[in-house]
Amino acid sequence: MTGKAFSEPIYVTRPFFPNLQDLHESLEEVWQNQILTNNGPKHKELEMALCQTLKVPSLSLFNNGTIALITAFQALDLAGEVITTPFTFPATPHVLTWNQITPVFCDIHPITMNIDASKIESLITDKTSAILGVHVYGTPCDVSEIENIAQRHGLKVVYDAAHAFGVEIDGKGIGTFGDISMFSFHATKLFHTAEGGGLTFNDRNLKAQIDLLKNFGIKNEDEVILPGINGKMNEIQSALGLINLRYLEEERQRRKAIIEVYRQELSNVEGITLLDFPSNVRPSYQYFVIRIQKDKFGVSRDDVHRQLKEYNVFTRKYFYPLCSDYECYKKSSTARLPDLPIAQKVVQEVLALPLYGHLPLDDVKTICDLIKSFSSVRRKSHRAR
Ligand SMILES: *Cc1c(COP(=O)(O)O)cnc(C)c1O
Repeated sequence: MTGKAFSEPIYVTRPFFPNLQDLHESLEEVWQNQILTNNGPKHKELEMALCQTLKVPSLSLFNNGTIALITAFQALDLAGEVITTPFTFPATPHVLTWNQITPVFCDIHPITMNIDASKIESLITDKTSAILGVHVYGTPCDVSEIENIAQRHGLKVVYDAAHAFGVEIDGKGIGTFGDISMFSFHATKLFHTAEGGGLTFNDRNLKAQIDLLKNFGIKNEDEVILPGINGKMNEIQSALGLINLRYLEEERQRRKAIIEVYRQELSNVEGITLLDFPSNVRPSYQYFVIRIQKDKFGVSRDDVHRQLKEYNVFTRKYFYPLCSDYECYKKSSTARLPDLPIAQKVVQEVLALPLYGHLPLDDVKTICDLIKSFSSVRRKSHRAR
């Protein structure tokens, strides 16, 4: 170790905490209403507010993003096989498994790191019912090409938009693409309700179906018409969400400033690649992820991750490992290493750096200096040998 470690640990993210007084006032309304769950007034208000924020015609709130995504596949009545990416959070393929659907892993695009649309068609069989894309780190999937493929083959399209809160393509909300999109409002996401999630869709008729499915399939006092689940968001979560929404733009701007420092400090470093957003895309600022090429940088991503820990900086190998390498999926016929060469490479390179609104810009600069020093340190020692 050369420099000094941070005296307090710096984590990859920290949940956003709103002003407690604001939350208190909102909770007083909940107490006055005497309603804690089952589509209460706060729940209704948050659904409306989020339709505006996300620029979507229709939205249904859930207790978390994973249950929401499970319900999306029920609502569309999908079965058989679904083509998805191995480079995602475990929830994505697990949701398919919980629906008795086989995840079919498709390789990813070398730049966007999203499902490679040009490789989807070769994986379609007579069992394929849908494509499940993930907008990784908020970069939109190739939505128009995926739409074309789906239309040609009569498939549904579902998006895991957990990373893409507030993302827009040419001013259109990311949640308007495909049949259904899932957002996560987990504590570590840009916008959160502690735990929570939502489904967005264009077809307003889906709303009744999805709302039934998240409430045990109960239609009325006398009829239960579907095998539903309990996916309801409660009033306390909804109240927290309504308060957090007030701070959303402020939080985005803080993160934007942090990302600018990261980009300035790391954009010209040999062996480090940054992810560029297309100019027609409004970013989410949920993550800041770099790629480290060991052959050019001198040390591997794993080394940088480990060395930063010695300085009290806790970055995250996100995503690692590939879903297709999990014990539960690696025997699948589409999990074989030769078929996923880009994903296998990318998963060794990515590193999510600390990003949350209150991270001081000076600390960001120090983190960048540390990362850069790891590369030169190793080069010097090579020369010494
Ligand atoms: C956070 C996340 C999920 C899971 O959402 P929860 O609300 O925690 O259930 C799913 N997919 C991706 C890509 C995520 O980042």
